Amino acid sequence: MLRLRNVEKAFGDVRAVNDVSFDVHEGEILTLLGPSGCGKSTTLRLVMGLERATGGQIEYQGKVLDSDDGFVPPHKRSMGMVFQSYAIWPHMTVAKNIAYPLKLRKRPKKEIDAAIERVLALVGMEGMQDRPGTKLSGGQMQRVALARALVYEPKLLLLDEPFSNLDAQLREHMRAEVKSLQRRLGLTVLFVTHDQTEALSMSNSIVLMRTGRIIQVADPKTMYNEPTEQFVRDFVGHTI
Ligand code: ATP
Ligand code: MG
Repeated sequence: MLRLRNVEKAFGDVRAVNDVSFDVHEGEILTLLGPSGCGKSTTLRLVMGLERATGGQIEYQGKVLDSDDGFVPPHKRSMGMVFQSYAIWPHMTVAKNIAYPLKLRKRPKKEIDAAIERVLALVGMEGMQDRPGTKLSGGQMQRVALARALVYEPKLLLLDEPFSNLDAQLREHMRAEVKSLQRRLGLTVLFVTHDQTEALSMSNSIVLMRTGRIIQVADPKTMYNEPTEQFVRDFVGHTI
């Protein structure tokens, strides 16, 4: 469904992403895992089209999105993204937060209202349309961010450390929620985390990165049992 081939992103002298190739198959959760600064967010931003690659090629549903020959902008990629650093706009209500991507696309109000109701039900926040962002808990904010990413029915969901600000119990709950959404909606998910436990428990496949490069690609069991080098053993094995 999504194919990266020899993708590179350089910021001046820093090669944030270096010769990265992997495939995401329809219906799976693939996790990008690795220490801080290894290039996970940059890879996700390249997939979404928020950055342009300085080398290689990105293909999605059989179409080339990014190569030396052309570039498809984010709003034409039918992907939803939840960002790492901020979840939602606190000064807006839940409904306004979620409506934003649809308003950008100039959809009629009736359709927007129905879509908001549908995605709030999906994340278990029925009837909370008018609640201001400032009156939400951390977990509720993360859910609103998830609802906003789902509102234009993307086939591919990109999640950049979406649970990083939550306590352990809520994290566990949100992981289960994303897995359940993925199953119910038949979504494909590209998930980013630096948490090995999260990667092992959520993914069908894991891509482990270090300083911009891929070190190993495997399913969780294989990566845990058959690490290809000491770095994998240290990084994946530690907390279990
Ligand atoms: P974290 O787990 O801390 O979020 P990450 O794996 O998401 O880390 P990236 O944000 O992709 O890492 O950054 C990878 C490298 O690229 C880092 O060395 C970072 O400093 C650099 N980098 C990222 N964005 C830019 C930018 N806009 N300009 C210059 N350097 C950048
Ligand atoms: Mg990051």
